[in-house]
Amino acid sequence: MSKRNPEKTAALAREHLTRIRHALAEIDTLCSGTLLKRMMKCGKASCRCQQDPAARHGPYYEWGRMKAGKLVHRYVSPAQAVLLHQAIANYRKVKKLLRAWEDETERLIDAEAPRKP
Ligand SMILES: [Zn+2]
Repeated sequence: MSKRNPEKTAALAREHLTRIRHALAEIDTLCSGTLLKRMMKCGKASCRCQQDPAARHGPYYEWGRMKAGKLVHRYVSPAQAVLLHQAIANYRKVKKLLRAWEDETERLIDAEAPRKP
């Protein structure tokens, strides 16, 4: 990417923008936050889980995220955890694509409408 050839730079930036938009269009589900896998002790004093960490129950999946400025937690089923895992991965991908979109836009602006010295 050469600063001496703004047309080439602009064309390349537009190509990257197209690629970013196509990648975004392929994303379906989206969730923020983190998914934790936990093994838990139950309430029975006689249960093996009280002494033996390997005998704990689960796994239980806990989803934590920020909602309206507050940290919110909820438990989800293993089947839901599979879907959430993908949705959370998608969220990270979208954030990365948005940053790239912004960078390419800046490149395009500088190439197509450079500041006059
Ligand atoms: Zn137990």
